[in-house]
Amino acid sequence: MSQRFYSTQPIEGEAVVVDGPEAHHLLHVMRATAGTEVVLFDGHGAEYAARVSQTGRSEVRLDVLLRREVNRESPIALTLGVALPKGDRQRWLVEKATELGVTRLAPLITAHGVAQPETKTLDKLRRAVIEASKQCGRNRLMEIGEAETVEAFLQNTTADERLIAHPDPTSNVRPLLSGDVSTVVAAIGPEGGFSDEELQAAGAAGWTPVSLGPRILRVETAALSLAAIVGLTAWKA
Ligand code: SAM
Repeated sequence: MSQRFYSTQPIEGEAVVVDGPEAHHLLHVMRATAGTEVVLFDGHGAEYAARVSQTGRSEVRLDVLLRREVNRESPIALTLGVALPKGDRQRWLVEKATELGVTRLAPLITAHGVAQPETKTLDKLRRAVIEASKQCGRNRLMEIGEAETVEAFLQNTTADERLIAHPDPTSNVRPLLSGDVSTVVAAIGPEGGFSDEELQAAGAAGWTPVSLGPRILRVETAALSLAAIVGLTAWKA
């Protein structure tokens, strides 16, 4: 498979100019020259066979040869509301959530949260989504929302199933996913867990508490377990 590159510009015409980190990757890592063939995607669902026509110091011009609509999204659209862990674990979580087909990740501000997500951090995580999508073949980018309070997230998010992960004995997640479920939203708490007030707010707003087994999972393990369960539930090879 040809190497994949992301175009920040929508690919519409017969040629496209790539700049920024993608041009750096093409020029200085792949050492692309005129004639090098790659696959481009712009996050809108298609991928494009393309050939380098011209290289500059910090940009690359490519001819678009062929457009293919290739859907590698999960049948169930999953939004994960996550109280992000600290440091490298954030990036790891975002990379794996992208691979597992999560549609949207909403960073949550919670009472016991350790990392209060800043704009600069979220921009870095959005770049991690692009890197993971290049690698895993996704043609739509997982969206990373702006940080929001868990209260706002619980009140304002709609879906066929709304699940809040909590270690106490609660519902098993799998039976909730049978039937006509096509949108799921799940909330995962911080290392210190959801506060009693947050759990009560979820109950009052009609969210279902779900268990992910008898062990206490780290935030990213809980988020990715849910992503794997939901993502593969309706998947037909
Ligand atoms: N002591 C905390 C508590 O009792 O909630 C542990 C928090 S855990 C490290 C971080 C988050 O992962 C939890 O808030 C929950 O959303 C999720 N989680 C971890 N283990 C889980 C399990 N076995 N079942 C459901 N959710 C779990």
